[in-house]
Parts: sequence; C-alpha cells; structure tokens
Amino acid sequence: MDPLLPGSTLGILGGGQLGRYMAISAQQRGYRVAVLDPQPDAPAHQVAHQKIVAAYNNPAALEQLAGLCQAVTFEFENVPAASLEPFARHGVSIRPGPLALATCQDRIAEKTLINDCGIETAPWRPVRTKNDLAPALVALGGSGILKTARSGYDGKGQAKIQTPAQAVEAFSRFGSVDCVLEGIVPFSLECSVLAARDVHGTCVTYPVCENAHSHHILDVTICPARIPEQTAKAMRAHTVRIAERLEYLGHLAVEFFVLANGSVVVNEIAPRPHNSGHLTLDAAQTNQFEQHVRCVLGWPVVPYEQIHAASAMANLLGDGWNRREPRWAALADFPHVRLHLYGKAQARPGRKMGHLTAWSESVESAEAMVRKARQALFNPAD
Ligand code: AMP
Repeated sequence: MDPLLPGSTLGILGGGQLGRYMAISAQQRGYRVAVLDPQPDAPAHQVAHQKIVAAYNNPAALEQLAGLCQAVTFEFENVPAASLEPFARHGVSIRPGPLALATCQDRIAEKTLINDCGIETAPWRPVRTKNDLAPALVALGGSGILKTARSGYDGKGQAKIQTPAQAVEAFSRFGSVDCVLEGIVPFSLECSVLAARDVHGTCVTYPVCENAHSHHILDVTICPARIPEQTAKAMRAHTVRIAERLEYLGHLAVEFFVLANGSVVVNEIAPRPHNSGHLTLDAAQTNQFEQHVRCVLGWPVVPYEQIHAASAMANLLGDGWNRREPRWAALADFPHVRLHLYGKAQARPGRKMGHLTAWSESVESAEAMVRKARQALFNPAD
C-alpha cells in the first residue's frame, strides 16, 4: 500500500484545535488541507488551504470535501455514518475507518468491544428504556453514573445516581435516549495511553500519561505516570489489543482508571488525538498529530520517543481570562514552558483556549513549573 504523496489533499471534518494541529502537521510535510466546520473562524479554518463553512451533515458540503481530498479524517467521534458515504463513493481513504467510528461513538458498542477483548470496564448495564433503570441500578449495587450512549464529552450527558427517582429524572432529562449505567469506580488515578496504528498493522504507544481533572474537564497531564512498570505495561498492551480489534488507522487514546491495588479498567476510547497527548508537541520526537497524519496518509508510524525525562501539560480554559487578557509577558520567566493558543477569539468558562507544556528531569518539577506558569498568567501577584 503506497502512501499518499506530498501535494495530495487531506480532508478534516471538524475545525477545532485538534483539526488545527492535524492541518499544521500535514502542511509541514507538503500536503494540502481542506477543513469542514460550521464556524467561519474555527481554529483549523484559520490555517487550512481550503475552508468549507457548513454543518457536518450538509450533503453539498460533504460532496465538495470528498471531491477535494484523497484521505479524510475527523477531530471528533460523533460523525454521522451517512456523512461518510460521499467519501466512500469518491474512493477517499476514510481513517480511522467506519468500524472505529461506529464503535467509539456509542458507549454500548464501545464497552461491548472492550469487554470482548477480555479487558475490564466499570461494571455497566445498557439502558434503552425507562424500564431498564431499576434492574440496572440493583445490579450495580444501588448507585452509579448514567451516561448517554452518544454525544457526551467532558462530563456532559452524565449524572450521578443514588436513588431510582434520580435515575428516572436523569433519563428523562437526557431525552430518554439510549444510555449506559456505570458503577462508580473507586479509582486512585486516571491515566491515558496514546497510541498510533498504521496501514501495516504496526502499533506504537507512548509512555503512560497521568491525568488530573477539574469539573470533569482535563486540567493537568504529567508523563510518565507515577505507577508501577507492570501497570503501565498492562495499559499499553490493552491499548494495542483494542486498536487491533478496531482495525484502527491513526492516532487514538485509551482512558483508564487505576485502582489502589494496581488493576486497571478502561473508561473510554478517544478515536483521535487527545488532550492528554498535547504534551507530545514539545516532549516527544514525533507528536500525536504527526503520528495521526502519517497513519491517515498511509505512512508507517515511527517510534514514539520521549525527548525529555518528564513532561507536563496544563489546559488554559476560558475561565482564566476572567474579563481580562492573561499576563502573557510573565512567560518570559519560564524558559522550559511553551505556550500554545488555538486562535479562539471568545473566552468562555470551560472553553479550551490553549495549553502550556513544560519539561524537566522529574514529573514533580515539570508539574510544579507548568502550574506556576499558569498561575502567573491568570493570577499575577501584582
Ligand atoms: P467521561 O466523559 O466518561 O470520560 O467522564 C468524565 C470524568 O468523570 C472521568 O474522567 C472521571 O473523572 C469521571 N467518571 C466517569 N465515569 C466514572 C466512573 N464509572 N466511576 C468514577 N468516575 C467516573
């Protein structure tokens, strides 16, 4: 299978920060990039050769993109299956493929596949009607988290359930759509494994990342995670098995919960570059976006090597703007910290505006540095 050569066009559905970094990676290697996103000033539109401003299910826009590109990829998993049809008809390489997309956009299909691989998830039950709620709650010991099967992210479409009445209320609030009820995992740590798999079936993984969340949104990632070698090995092996089962092509991330006894369960699969992988932009020989673009264009993956002993990443959410511009000049005092901004004009609470990366000899000092730099931006002492 020959790779697509420079000069070919990569199509990207979704114009947020993930699409923007994919576009930049492809352009650095001499490819053209066409982006479809409904927002005219979307981060990836700002850098694309061709921008198509339209809804993701707009047939004419999809037809136009399919006519322009030789390979197409996605920055989010909720791509309707029907949106892939024009690409298939035009003979465009769709990567990751329809199996990975269909599986990862439905928590029921995703958890079923993970369990079929012999890998543990939180205990869970599908909830398709109101009548499924009570038996599911009993099976899980009387409490859990209700999640919509589709379209949830960053804690959206999720509710903590402690009573049958709460379950009924949440299910109806979600519009009585398909859901899963999950047992609450008493995890001691959240981790993610970044991986990329190519057309030859070779899969590489990056050292395990350790993730801290705030209000269900990723806050800080450090790498390598502070876990026993055996636990890290298990997570990396699970990730490879999942990628193989999905016949995956491109970059993915698998999110894990680590329990106090060192055992691990999968939380979810992200079939794309992942927020925790942003630290690879400055801490890895090849970053997650380049790995993704390589695989999508048919090139072999390259070894996923750290170039620093330890690294950290802190998200910059819109909350930090708080009606005034962050004090960017403060970063002059942090030579081992890099600023990344996504080109979003409007800062809103919870909106991912950018991130900081830092590197050092230990994860403790990398984390301390990235937190201190963020503090200096958002809460200057003066
Ligand atoms: P998700 O969108 O499913 O990744 O969930 C967002 C966050 O909610 C996770 O990163 C966890 O911090 C928490 N969470 C989700 N599911 C569970 C669970 N079954 N048990 C405990 N915490 C959970």
